[in-house]
Parts: sequence; structure tokens; C-alpha cells
Amino acid sequence: MHAYAEWTLSADNREGVPVAIFQMMCMSCHVMSDAADNDGSRQQTWALDHTGRNPGHQGFKLITETYWRVEPGRGNPYREVEA
Ligand SMILES: [Zn+2]
Repeated sequence: MHAYAEWTLSADNREGVPVAIFQMMCMSCHVMSDAADNDGSRQQTWALDHTGRNPGHQGFKLITETYWRVEPGRGNPYREVEA
């Protein structure tokens, strides 16, 4: 038996946990947009507005956070000791 087989990793889909958090960063001046849960459309609008005010700033990085959780697998004694 191998220890790695006794734990499973999956996306954390518990209530209240966002599917993703999106935030945009300008690659010219490193200013960041606000962060938002589950919908990156506001950050895309922010990038367009930012370039509108700073025509030389045309490169952006979309930062996406997702949440993951390790749970005890079948046969793992921690499965019985639910936190
Ligand atoms: Zn900028």
C-alpha cells in the first residue's frame, strides 16, 4: 500500500468557496484591478478602460485563483476522524 493513494485532491466546492477569483494586472505599470468572484468580465472591462486612459499600456495578466482540498480517501483512518 502506498500512502499517496489514501488522499484525494479535488476542487473545493463547499458552500461559500468561490469557483474562482479573478484579478487583472497591467504589465506596464503593475496596477491591479479589483478582485471578483466567479466572473472575470468586470476585469476585462477594467483592462479596456485602463488602456483607454493609458494608450501605451496594452499588456495584461489575468490572475485566477482556484481553491483545492485534500480529503482522506477510502481506507484512510482520517476519514473516520472528520474535522
Ligand atoms: Zn498600466
